[in-house]
Amino acid sequence: MSTPTIVIAGAGQAGSRTAASLRELGFEGRVVLVGDEPHLPYQRPPLSKGHLTGAAARDNLWLHPWTFYDHHEIELRLSKRVNRIDRPNNRVELAGGEILDYDHLVLALGARNRTLPLDGNELDGVVGLRNLAEADDIRERLARARRLVVVGGGFIGLEVAATAVKLGLDAVVVEIADQLMGRVLSAQMAGFVLDAHRARGLRVELGTSVTGLTGTAGRVSAVTTTDGREFPADMVLVGIGAAPNTNLAEDAGLRVDNGIVVDEYLATDDAQISAVGDCTSCPNRFAGGTRVRLESVHNATAQPRALAARLVGRPELYDSVPWFWSDQGDLKLQIAGLGVQSSHAVLRGDVDSGRFSVFCFHDGVLRSVESLNRPGDHMAARKLLALGNCLTPEQARDPDFDLRAHIAAHSIGDPVVPAHRATSPRAAG
Ligand code: ADP
Repeated sequence: MSTPTIVIAGAGQAGSRTAASLRELGFEGRVVLVGDEPHLPYQRPPLSKGHLTGAAARDNLWLHPWTFYDHHEIELRLSKRVNRIDRPNNRVELAGGEILDYDHLVLALGARNRTLPLDGNELDGVVGLRNLAEADDIRERLARARRLVVVGGGFIGLEVAATAVKLGLDAVVVEIADQLMGRVLSAQMAGFVLDAHRARGLRVELGTSVTGLTGTAGRVSAVTTTDGREFPADMVLVGIGAAPNTNLAEDAGLRVDNGIVVDEYLATDDAQISAVGDCTSCPNRFAGGTRVRLESVHNATAQPRALAARLVGRPELYDSVPWFWSDQGDLKLQIAGLGVQSSHAVLRGDVDSGRFSVFCFHDGVLRSVESLNRPGDHMAARKLLALGNCLTPEQARDPDFDLRAHIAAHSIGDPVVPAHRATSPRAAG
């Protein structure tokens, strides 16, 4: 029998991790990793943080050095785009005409930035941040700019805005919703973060969207907003979220619904095609079993690991606690779980000290924990959420309640009923 070939389309964190996990788990067939960027696979989180100030060395961005791919016989095809999936013939076509046959195809296609549906997007100085080339460009621009308008108060917008404030720019964030980071954060924590940013000199305009981008001689000069105001700008960062790259899958007749639809084993409806990372819509027990699309390093690491296990014949459910982080200047925000719709938020720690967590409960069950400069709570939260329904709001609120001892007791004691499988009202409360 000839050696099987796994082709991975997309050489970001999820694609690269899939290749690495396959080798770690002993896959001996051919692994081909195809990516359209010219660089070695790299980490994205530093791009909107240390990379912008030069604090993060470029060489530290690479997920692995060249030698890693050589050593593990992972064939890297960089600056190559997959143009088409030919499912009947089990092959993909690359731009330029090259054909790659596969026994299994992994789609790790990531997401792309949404753009403002406005004239003026093409003005010099209107930028988005997703890849290394854009981050390099933004770094240069920040060094020269004086007035930055950030459209969108999500992680990316706020990380760049906080960096700009630190660099001495006059920065304003325009956010359409009435709170920051509404996609991922409770109103309580978002309120604390808003105050902290304002106290550090960042202007934030909530409940406001952009109606126009004005330019002078092809360069952006101002942003106008729904409330009729005009904000002068020599740089505008648009950070209004991302859309999954699903065209290839859709054209090939795969199911797409805010991401390529996969099951808990990362399988699409085609037994020879799987998908991982930002481009997938995957059932998640921490979202009550519904399908979610997650954009996080954790997701781009844990999904490939589970997929590789299945591909080497040891299927593993993708079932780990989702977590995220965002460094916004000196504000270190960490989130464990998925709890935006929680109905009951409990504060732990001291707000005035800038180190505290918000424990979010829904129907008495812990759904997520948001920590600001309190990494110990974050680590505990990941364990608590993995254990299931084992913390009450009263315990979370009590500063003397020892989370670590509690986790240790539950880890060796009776199995805890996972929250979503709880059948009795008590277990759920
Ligand atoms: P990112 O990863 O780009 O930070 P998020 O989805 O986390 O993406 O955040 C994007 C933010 O942009 C959200 O808070 C959303 O409400 C906001 N937003 C979306 N469209 C607009 C708009 N037209 N004007 C201002 N803010 C917007």
